[in-house]
Amino acid sequence: MPAGQPRYRRILLKVSGEVLMGDKQFGIDLETLDAVAADIGEVLRDGIELCLVIGGGNIFRGLSMAGKGMERASADYMGMLATVMNALALQSALEKIGVDTRVQSAIPMQAVCEPYIRRRALRHLEKGRVVIFAAGLGAPYFTTDTPAALRAAEMGCDALFKGTSVDGVYTADPKKEPGAQRYEQMSYLEVLAQDLKVMDASAISLMRDNGIPIVVFSIREPGNLRRVLHGAGVFTTICEDRQAA
Ligand code: UDP
Repeated sequence: MPAGQPRYRRILLKVSGEVLMGDKQFGIDLETLDAVAADIGEVLRDGIELCLVIGGGNIFRGLSMAGKGMERASADYMGMLATVMNALALQSALEKIGVDTRVQSAIPMQAVCEPYIRRRALRHLEKGRVVIFAAGLGAPYFTTDTPAALRAAEMGCDALFKGTSVDGVYTADPKKEPGAQRYEQMSYLEVLAQDLKVMDASAISLMRDNGIPIVVFSIREPGNLRRVLHGAGVFTTICEDRQAA
């Protein structure tokens, strides 16, 4: 286990809905959910503050339904509701291990969770609570990448952690091309220019404008979040060249 101080004090962790499926084809795999919650619990013990944006692709993705003929905006609202379901599932898993958690939704639904209120979210973080931001931006025609970047900036986070099933950014899809090389570090502009599909371009631009590094790592390996936070393990950092480690 890595010793010493974590590299960042406050982070936003973006977990794609697909991660929560585990090895299933749809929905939430409870073992995977508990493993993600355990990883979060572990880094909180290091004293860092953490907020989350969770995707909904394991349940519903607007764009793919729109591709089959559903009206795009309605399909996207359904996708946003899927993120609320995932947020409630993760809240439940975190509370089971004693982590104080609040869900805030960009689409107000008072009977279920808090509405998004920036100052209140900041207060929760200061009190050591995990804040899960649900329902994306509350607007269609986006994925959860852009709300992840936006909330990272609004919450004054030192880094945006993108937890996926791949352990960084590669020259090509490592599942298809065995010779693909992983980048240790890239600049925002390199990612945009090469159209690498790490995150939506709007999210990368927002992080570039605000000088917030993006750390891409695999959240499917238990304990990895803490390792990466301490600069150990395998990951790719996207930042300005001048921030080079
Ligand atoms: N979505 C949206 N606006 C937002 C965030 C999400 O319309 O601000 C919808 C969109 O349909 C998206 C779905 O919610 O496909 C689920 O989010 P995402 O695709 O980002 O999930 P992930 O790929 O991270 O599992």
